Amino acid sequence: MSINRRNFLKASGTASVLAGVASVAGCAVGGSSGPRVVVVGGGYGGATVAKYIKQWAPHINVTLVERNAEFISCPISNLVLGGTKTLKDMTVSYETLTKKYGINVVRADATAVDVDKKMVRLAGGDSLPFDRVILSPGIDFMYEDLPGLNNAAAQEKVLHAWKAGPQTIALRKQLEAMRDGGVVAITIPVAPYRCPPGPYERACQIASYLKQSKPKSKVIILDANPDVTSKPGLFKKAWADMYPGMIEYRGNSRVMDVDMRTLSAKLEVADDVKADVLNVLPPMKAGAIVNPFITANKRWCEINWLTYEAKNVPGVHLLGDALQIAPAMPKSGHMANAHGKACAAAVVALLAGEQPNGAPVLTNTCYSFVSADKVVHVASVHKYDEKDKTMKAVPGAGGVSSASNELEGQYAMTWARNIWADALG
Ligand SMILES: Cc1cc2nc3c(=O)[nH]c(=O)nc-3n(C[C@H](O)[C@H](O)[C@H](O)COP(=O)(O)OP(=O)(O)OC[C@H]3O[C@@H](n4cnc5c(N)ncnc54)[C@H](O)[C@@H]3O)c2cc1C
Repeated sequence: MSINRRNFLKASGTASVLAGVASVAGCAVGGSSGPRVVVVGGGYGGATVAKYIKQWAPHINVTLVERNAEFISCPISNLVLGGTKTLKDMTVSYETLTKKYGINVVRADATAVDVDKKMVRLAGGDSLPFDRVILSPGIDFMYEDLPGLNNAAAQEKVLHAWKAGPQTIALRKQLEAMRDGGVVAITIPVAPYRCPPGPYERACQIASYLKQSKPKSKVIILDANPDVTSKPGLFKKAWADMYPGMIEYRGNSRVMDVDMRTLSAKLEVADDVKADVLNVLPPMKAGAIVNPFITANKRWCEINWLTYEAKNVPGVHLLGDALQIAPAMPKSGHMANAHGKACAAAVVALLAGEQPNGAPVLTNTCYSFVSADKVVHVASVHKYDEKDKTMKAVPGAGGVSSASNELEGQYAMTWARNIWADALG
């Protein structure tokens, strides 16, 4: 990161503003004359960018619009299905962002961004004016691609549980209610989708629960991709060693629809698969609020990787899962958190009339729990390539674990606590 808080304050002469705000901790701070930044989405990307802007430039007025009352982490949420964690263990309040950093957290649904008038419209009719807007809405599901699931009643029965929350608990209840000897089918869409290793971790967590409580049962993974998309060797070894005969992996198994009458996944090129618990991860696209900024495959947003501005509309910043990923860049919480910091530095620089960092480097680590306590990871480093104007994975940096083990389990939980504190603490 080219800019740190001390340098920024020195450069922009805002040290006196910082001294001024220290005495009003607990109130919304930032003078009414300061620039206004509105962030939509208080997840991994949005909470991070809001906090870092306010830390590095306290004179900027930061408003964070989030529809949910609390932050619930998707990372670690598969452990709720395994039965070793509850949602409470991964829920964080937005209070610190308000009380400690002076961010104006607004609980609302943002319905549109009026670029010309520089306003974010909220459900209910209110509007928030901005000088810069940052959108990190995560993903939406493309139910239109699965006609049988494209209604509320079907979606209540066939869950995604791919946004941690009530669906995570409901899926756990379906597993608890299933008979011993039942079949759980997990379907995975064609990549890119949120969290490449997440579905395979989920299969491990469900199998871990079934092994103890319903050992005659089976997990079938129906993957639209030809092979496991992340850590294939490590996952396949874990399935063979820890859950022999219990997890069946089927690549090239794209789900075209769901038959709600028989609770079956209808595949493109093979017979229907009937399940007792059917967990469908529909194809995904950027969250609806960024629709005007979608420029790739009618699904994702392309950006300038130095400023995080939309390719089609400068002045609108985008980050997180909503982005058209750079080569080898996963849609992950760690990555969204890294985008958040890079975007914060760029917005602070732009608002100060300075050039953003021309050579950003981002890192990522994804941990996956293959049992209650054994974990594997994949890590990567992504560097800006001036010639191709994109982020590229640095060869030889990062890599995967040599084998699953409990020490990595401790690292994984430390990673989670650290990143929650980094974004929201
Ligand atoms: C089961 C599972 C396990 C995972 N495990 C890992 C892991 O181990 N490591 C890892 O790095 N990543 C993991 N991920 C991926 C990670 O959760 C996502 O990549 C990350 O959440 C993306 O951050 P984001 O800010 O783009 O979106 P989100 O974190 O989803 O945040 C988006 C926020 O925007 C809000 N929002 C959207 N639209 C609006 C609107 N119009 N108005 C108001 N609010 C709005 C939403 O309510 C949400 O809070 C996992 C995901 C899943 C599902």
